[in-house]
Amino acid sequence: MNSVTVRVPAKVNLRLAVGPLRDDGFHDLVNVFHAVSIFDEVRAVAETGMRVRVEGESASEVPQDADNLAIRAALALAGHAGRSYGVSIVIRKAIPVAGGMAGGSADAAAALVACNELWGLGLPVEDLMEIAADLGSDVPFALLGGTAVGTGRGERLSPLDVDGTFHWVFALADGGLSTARVYGECDRLRAVSGEPVGPPRASEPLLTALRTGDAKALGAELANDLQAAAISLRPSLATTLEAGRAHGALGAIVSGSGPTCAFLAESAEHATALAASLKTAGVAREVLTAHGPVPGPTVV
Ligand code: ATP
Repeated sequence: MNSVTVRVPAKVNLRLAVGPLRDDGFHDLVNVFHAVSIFDEVRAVAETGMRVRVEGESASEVPQDADNLAIRAALALAGHAGRSYGVSIVIRKAIPVAGGMAGGSADAAAALVACNELWGLGLPVEDLMEIAADLGSDVPFALLGGTAVGTGRGERLSPLDVDGTFHWVFALADGGLSTARVYGECDRLRAVSGEPVGPPRASEPLLTALRTGDAKALGAELANDLQAAAISLRPSLATTLEAGRAHGALGAIVSGSGPTCAFLAESAEHATALAASLKTAGVAREVLTAHGPVPGPTVV
């Protein structure tokens, strides 16, 4: 085989509950991940040596060297197999960079799937999951897709039952937000408020809304403990969220560590109308519609 192409989706967090800061610098999380139909394409081509090239509007914001998460994933997979394989990886980027939609993690997961195939390793998904967990806490979900709840740092995953399809609108912002900075701001705001922070919890009504495909109930249950921190660092996000609510979104939330904002719509038609309203309101660099859940990395 000379090349393998994998399509991999972005994610939105339907609930991101952040526990107190742990001694190791991480937080315990309860994280409901949902894969949506905004896709990067990762092509792995047989070659000696390892290299990566990124294509698309945001290519200049992504490292094209050994810091790229897709190359780190390929190196980790070769290490696991105990061989020095080569690959040239070409990423066609559509997932917003540093947008809170786990684009880097998605590319890493896609690279694991593509190189496993390209190199004929035939490793089972359990092995890929182990490598994924070492690469970053969002990478295991990126390998799984669908909808799932993650605990620990987000890497212990249980798939969730979802009935039907949910329709989303995403408002993309100018420039990204660093995930580490947003967590730091969350800790700072909590220290200032002095409120005790309990262990992170899942929400039964949210899981029921997913199981029954009830978009209205899901909209009411969307919650993100990082939202206040993202808004504190980027106050204009409050205006973006308010514009979505004013135009009838069932729920409006900052996606992960932001700055992308996610809006749940009643239907595909409502998503199209809501996207048009947000464009007219001028509250985003770009507005996209998408649906979820969608499967994880798929060889095309
Ligand atoms: P998360 O939601 O997991 O916190 P994010 O969506 O906010 O992540 P990413 O798009 O994954 O952020 O990018 C975070 C940083 O990772 C970028 O600023 C970029 O420098 C770096 N990076 C490394 N490899 C990649 C990649 N393949 N795609 C995007 N960013 C990458």
